[in-house]
Amino acid sequence: MNTLTAKKALVLGGSRGIGAAIVNRLSAEGAYLTFTYAGSAQAAKALADSTASQAVQVDSSERDQLTAFIDSQGPLDILVINAGTLLMGDPLTLAADDVDRMIDINVRAPYHAAVAAARQMKDGGRIIVIGSVNGDRMPMAGASAYALTKSALQGMVRGLARDLGERGITVNNVQPGPVDTDMNPAEGPFSELMHSFMAIKRHGKPEEIAALVAFLAGPEAGYITGAQHTIDGGFGA
Ligand code: NDP
Repeated sequence: MNTLTAKKALVLGGSRGIGAAIVNRLSAEGAYLTFTYAGSAQAAKALADSTASQAVQVDSSERDQLTAFIDSQGPLDILVINAGTLLMGDPLTLAADDVDRMIDINVRAPYHAAVAAARQMKDGGRIIVIGSVNGDRMPMAGASAYALTKSALQGMVRGLARDLGERGITVNNVQPGPVDTDMNPAEGPFSELMHSFMAIKRHGKPEEIAALVAFLAGPEAGYITGAQHTIDGGFGA
């Protein structure tokens, strides 16, 4: 523990689920944390109080608001881009505006946030985005647009790793499989089907994803960049 003492970290989308576990873990490692949220003000306040971090309402779908907020943070050591949404349904009938909103949050926001943070980031910094195993494998119908957004992040980390490598800044994509959160509850209607694809037949815990993020954010991970880190119980194996 305490591998991130005095590091300045920003987590986008930290109020619930995987993001909240990342806030808890980075805080336990000694980082000085700010996190954003969109709608869950109560959960955000409780988490900020328990981790001595700052919670700020910034909707990732509002590009200019998001980048202005990141600019206002000054030089970061660590940026974790976790905020994301899942829209499922028949692509022939999904509303185009709803699909575009997901693309705004899952793709445009990560790109513009990473670039804005990189302008001021300290040498040796860390940019970590939460993608999905669905960037590699989409074994069910009804999630083509979601899979599109998570595949897009793979190219983003490859390219940004090269753009920022000279400064020792690493850029990585953590790709969870099913994780027990509000987005994908372990008791949800698709659990049995999802577990049937997996080597470890259970949902992951948010804390398991946070542990990988903490490692990638830490001092031992300076040679890991431009890479996809799948943590999925063998969903994509
Ligand atoms: P949850 O829905 O449980 O939590 C989402 C978090 O992101 C919340 O803190 C939420 O804030 C925040 N968020 C959502 N939209 C916005 C926005 N527009 N602006 C700012 N913050 C926002 O999701 P998970 O924890 O399950 O997922 C987190 C990430 O992990 C996502 O990128 C998701 O795609 C990915 N993932 C999840 C998997 C799973 O099985 N759970 C599997 C693979 C990937 P608020 O509470 O304020 O709404």
